[in-house]
Amino acid sequence: MASRTSWAAGWFFRVNVNPPMLGIGIKKAHDTSKDIKENGTFSVNIPSADMVDRVDYCGLVSGEMLISPGSSRSCCGDLGEVFELLMITGNVNTLGSVSKMQVPKIMRAMVLEKTGEPLKHLIVPVPKPNPDQILIKIHACGVCRTDLHIVDGELTNPKLPLIPGHEIVGTVVHMGEHVKNFQLDEKIGTPWLGYTDGTCRYCRSGRENLCDHALFTGYTIDGGYAEYTVADHRYCFRVPDGYSDIEAAPLMCAGLIGYRSYRMAVAESEAERLGIYGFGAAAHIITQVAVFMRKKVYAFTRPGDIEAQEFARRLGAIWAGESSSQPPEKLDAAIIFAPVGSLVPIALSRVAKGGTIVCGGIHMSDIPSFAYNLLWEERVVRSVTNLTREDGWKFLEIAPKVPVRTEVQTFPLEEANEALDSLRRGRIQGVAVLTMGS
Ligand SMILES: [Zn+2]
Ligand SMILES: [Zn+2]
Repeated sequence: MASRTSWAAGWFFRVNVNPPMLGIGIKKAHDTSKDIKENGTFSVNIPSADMVDRVDYCGLVSGEMLISPGSSRSCCGDLGEVFELLMITGNVNTLGSVSKMQVPKIMRAMVLEKTGEPLKHLIVPVPKPNPDQILIKIHACGVCRTDLHIVDGELTNPKLPLIPGHEIVGTVVHMGEHVKNFQLDEKIGTPWLGYTDGTCRYCRSGRENLCDHALFTGYTIDGGYAEYTVADHRYCFRVPDGYSDIEAAPLMCAGLIGYRSYRMAVAESEAERLGIYGFGAAAHIITQVAVFMRKKVYAFTRPGDIEAQEFARRLGAIWAGESSSQPPEKLDAAIIFAPVGSLVPIALSRVAKGGTIVCGGIHMSDIPSFAYNLLWEERVVRSVTNLTREDGWKFLEIAPKVPVRTEVQTFPLEEANEALDSLRRGRIQGVAVLTMGS
């Protein structure tokens, strides 16, 4: 396979076409074998003259082709067309971006085209920010259980095609004209709540998490399984000092929504004994917060998951056992992070009078019927839905004080399917985080 390297103006693309094939169209390449650089077009470096078919059409016979953009801004649309055409007939394997100053027009992304199918590693246009948005160069994106529910089709009506991911940490590379509260190159986090209308009865009563017209990152708008994303600045967070990008990513959902669940379960009551069912991403963060706030944490894991039980004890849980186990004392509250409805009556039977059960996930299997006496004595079962910005501000203020440390397992962006599968099989201790490699 031919191999050449060429780049210009601080960024480059390296495209492998495999298997070799005929008839890949390249629009507006006006010359043949040499680099072309013209106003309004792009430069194309093609290894061999006999790969060129005719003036505005190239047939790539075999091997590797390298394309580098010219300096003109208007070239970029043309370049997008090139990649569009390449994507139809070839596999685009690698793409590098090396400039801080210059934002490329296309990027790598893991794209959900149809639920129930693996994500595809594609080259797509870098999104353009509107006046309220920030263009973020993504460094890390956490893989949340919600992503799994979206990919598997358990959450209905996602935007399709969709770039999933809502635990995004990156840097500000471009800002819309209304953005005043962030600066270029600042580290920024983007959570699940991507937009609210600010006018509906929920927004007006301080419950924007229930907004009638909310948009959600990585669900109804594109998210962070990509090299770049745009986000409305009003819903972004500053990343607290002392966290690497990879460590900070899980704070953006497991931390934020976990904290809302925690607050609903104990923070506003006298609850001291907190049960946590499902010891994954959110639980490992919230255990640290709870211990910091002098709560006693009882961790419940799936049967036989000794590793998760040890993990919970290591993080400060005073007791850890299987989900069906009887804790040594009655609980005051419990959070169920596992998407398992049958845990609801079990948890209810473990809480004392007046105890609260908070279902912290966005999706759960059906809850079996249970005797009323499990609910009697003012026990409460409730869910937590989304987050408010206030949840985020409060949590991100507390996190560095604890300090919350996140345990992460990293995967390169293109292995998002493997990360999701590991999560599906319960093989992630802590949080899976995708890294973008630049
Ligand atoms: Zn609203
Ligand atoms: Zn999430």
